[in-house]
Amino acid sequence: SSFEDLNLSPELLKGLYVEMKFEKPSKIQAISLPMILTPPYKNLIAQAHNGSGKTTCFVLGMLSRVDPNLKAPQALCICPTRELAIQNMEVLQKMGKYTGIFAEAAVPMDSTFYVATAKRAPVTAQIVIGTPGTIKKWMSLKKLGANFIKILVFDEADHMLAEDGFRDDSLRIMREIERANASCQVLLFSATFNDMVKDFVTKTVKDYNQLFV
Ligand code: AMP
Repeated sequence: SSFEDLNLSPELLKGLYVEMKFEKPSKIQAISLPMILTPPYKNLIAQAHNGSGKTTCFVLGMLSRVDPNLKAPQALCICPTRELAIQNMEVLQKMGKYTGIFAEAAVPMDSTFYVATAKRAPVTAQIVIGTPGTIKKWMSLKKLGANFIKILVFDEADHMLAEDGFRDDSLRIMREIERANASCQVLLFSATFNDMVKDFVTKTVKDYNQLFV
């Protein structure tokens, strides 16, 4: 198959070919992207490990579904570590180079910088990528609005849910989005499907497609 078959914008195709130098979709990309990008935008639970090309699936999902003309967060990607959040941000910025879409990292910062950031105006970037604690904090500070969020990604969910604090934060973030907006698509990626992940999915995600790669 080809990226041309996946209903991607010309700007994203250019990002894939020119910036990423990808030639054709990996298996998980060819299977998941039609599910992610086609109405009714069903939730997706995917078992996929590093190397499968999963990052491209949710990065293209977020970049395709947000409206660049709306200056408010519309996609949220939750990661278990600051390093993974930054890494995903770099992929997104490269792949989305021609889209005019902005992303902001919501990760823990050193205290002086944090004070300045906390006071800053609400986030106007269309996409926010970060760790659960900081995202939750930004939401409670009203710095990160949930009203327009229509796609919520969990990357490496098994690592994230292994930490009690992150599990609680993730649940709170989901409730906040649910309260604001009933139709948010959830994409959850995990290398393993232990009881913790299964339990979280059962409790929080309704009506989903499941994928094992
Ligand atoms: P990931 O599983 O998302 O961490 O991706 C693993 C590696 O595969 C990364 O170095 C990606 O840049 C690369 N990759 C992902 N999708 C493709 C593709 N369609 N063609 C070539 N390389 C890819």
